[in-house]
Amino acid sequence: TRYLQRIAAYNPTLNAFVHLDADHVLAQARASDAHRAAHGARPLEGLPVAVKDIFCTQDGPTRCCSKILEGFEAPYDAHVITRLKEAGAVLVGKTNMDEFAMGSSTETSAFGICRNPWDVERIPGGSSGGSASAVAAALAPAALGTDTGGSIRQPAALCGIVGLKPTYGRVSRRGIIAFASSLDQAGPMTRTVRDAAMLTAAISGHDSGDATSVANPPVVDWLGACDKMDMKGLKIGRPKEYFVDGMDAGVRAEVEAALKKCEELGAEIIDISLPHTEYAVAAYYVIAPSEASANLSRYDGVRFGHRCEAPEDLLDMYTRSRDEGFGSEVKRRILTGAFALSSGYYDAYYLKAQQVRTLIQQDFIKAFEQVDVIATPTSPITAFKLGEKTDDPLTMYLSDIFTIALNLAGLPGLSQPCGMVDGLPVGLQWIAPAWREDLLLSTAAAYE
Ligand code: GLN
Repeated sequence: TRYLQRIAAYNPTLNAFVHLDADHVLAQARASDAHRAAHGARPLEGLPVAVKDIFCTQDGPTRCCSKILEGFEAPYDAHVITRLKEAGAVLVGKTNMDEFAMGSSTETSAFGICRNPWDVERIPGGSSGGSASAVAAALAPAALGTDTGGSIRQPAALCGIVGLKPTYGRVSRRGIIAFASSLDQAGPMTRTVRDAAMLTAAISGHDSGDATSVANPPVVDWLGACDKMDMKGLKIGRPKEYFVDGMDAGVRAEVEAALKKCEELGAEIIDISLPHTEYAVAAYYVIAPSEASANLSRYDGVRFGHRCEAPEDLLDMYTRSRDEGFGSEVKRRILTGAFALSSGYYDAYYLKAQQVRTLIQQDFIKAFEQVDVIATPTSPITAFKLGEKTDDPLTMYLSDIFTIALNLAGLPGLSQPCGMVDGLPVGLQWIAPAWREDLLLSTAAAYE
């Protein structure tokens, strides 16, 4: 009830939630109480969790903050939603996001912009901006987001909370509306590292309904990792490509100070290089739109959501439904992707980008021969003003410059708060080898 009151008071300003059914939330809470009384508490018993509008939920609408999914009701729950319910969580509605998770500011949502609780004239980051804003403003204690190129970690950083992107394949993507299938991964957005561990424990695990969910992933002792709060002897890599001119000097100073603190806690800071970092954004903006153009071809006006009025023929229905349903950023991605995949261009763009992706993966493999974890800023800047970058997609794309390489390599990453610049939070990003979320959690818990 306390959270519902806070949502009623603050959501009209923040617009973090795009759907909320208070009666349904209370009914779930009562059912959780009854379960506790009859059978004892499950791992997340009674915990309110807000979920991004990208997750299919049987209760209420699932629209990915797009007009094209108007009226769509998901016939099943996403695997992670089922897992949350089984763990006893109470689902508190759907959070705002960039349309189809394409963006870094939550300004492309079909349901209006979302605001950053630290300064309501600024963006909360994106694309999981609603989840970040909700947790930062204590409208919910925890939320789920998805991260294709930074969409959990960047808004977590800009809103001063913890965000974790698990190793690709750790969490099932079934029932998560696909953006770029080889990059998408769901994860928690919380106030503490421990909460992130508990949520990841609940949502991860093999799902035979998603061929990319890994069957026997290395086991992690999620909470045990958080109790190992010792940094002594930990080798932390500091990649020179992530501390560059052009990034905000205040952000850089806060992250450098955080690394000093780690040194005081007994860690060793080692300068490393990830030489192909400079190609990550370019490779991502070929690969992600290519996959998106294929994934979004299913919105044809027939199977889901919006259909135009009085079509003349089949082609008119397809084109007009899509024209009316998709926003301009989504159209830009579809066009870019379809172009990159078209015959004659495939080798020059898509194939090249995949080759660059392999080089980026190899950079990380080499680096992890030298160090245990890598530390970087999550975002080169703090939360910017609403509208500041909406006319300039290129600078918008660059706000993910420090988060994208990890998705291309499939690695796990965690962002945690590490200071403030002019009253705005700064995020510290930890990167670990594949399947070593335990290292992320123990390091972040020790820093926290
Ligand atoms: N900002 C990036 C994009 O627009 C990443 C989004 C995401 O991770 N979903 O594609």
